[in-house]
Amino acid sequence: MKKYTIPLVIFISVCFFSGCSTIPGDRVMQTSTIDALLAGVYDGSMSCGELLDYGNFGIGTFDRLDGEMIILDGTVYQVKTDGKVYTPEADIMTPFATVCAFQPDLTFLITDRADYKGLKTIIDNQAPNQNEFIAIKITGSFSRMKVRSVPIQDKPYPPLVEVTENQTVFELKDVTGTIVGFRSPPFVKGVNVPGYHCHFISDDREQAGHILDCEIISGMGEVDSCNEFLLVLSGDSESLEDIDFSRDRGGELDRVEK
Ligand SMILES: [Zn+2]
Repeated sequence: MKKYTIPLVIFISVCFFSGCSTIPGDRVMQTSTIDALLAGVYDGSMSCGELLDYGNFGIGTFDRLDGEMIILDGTVYQVKTDGKVYTPEADIMTPFATVCAFQPDLTFLITDRADYKGLKTIIDNQAPNQNEFIAIKITGSFSRMKVRSVPIQDKPYPPLVEVTENQTVFELKDVTGTIVGFRSPPFVKGVNVPGYHCHFISDDREQAGHILDCEIISGMGEVDSCNEFLLVLSGDSESLEDIDFSRDRGGELDRVEK
């Protein structure tokens, strides 16, 4: 046994001093599918601790739909409908999340005021290829930030479109913070959200949520283009068994996102 000790020590030392990581760059990892979430699959299938094995940046929700998730700089944040931001334990589960190891490929300044639609146009001008996954990080000051969170659900779970009718909306004013999100290609329809899906967290980590609208005053944008997509489904083979994935839920998705 002893002869393995020295190579192992060397390997660990090389990893430690080179900062090597098992997280591949430019890979978006997603748990479950957006259509499963729309259909009411809210039981968590991956722990927050395991999520961080796939990246340090991302968005999602929690077991039983208990709030909105933001992952920034390797910390998982949970905003519940009480408006408070929590840092959940590593064993708290998620039924739907998208993460990556964020390494910006391009950085740009935002110097003009823009609403959410205008901000998307600014990002589109910087990253015009709509057929790639991009992770988006915008740090800035916002005159308005309208975000929502969703309430924890009990079984039998209603579809997401019914839950979001009772979502809690927070209208933040004059706040500094970070937008964390993704723009996904049209071909992810049914799997993730085509186009933009962004969450926000304030600099003081006290306010957060899924973005419905905003107005940025100024800030800095960072974009990470990702060319790999990893979809991880629940290990419980029965979890998606009864869902009809042939049905088009695009209309429901539009309603829950806005
Ligand atoms: Zn969201």
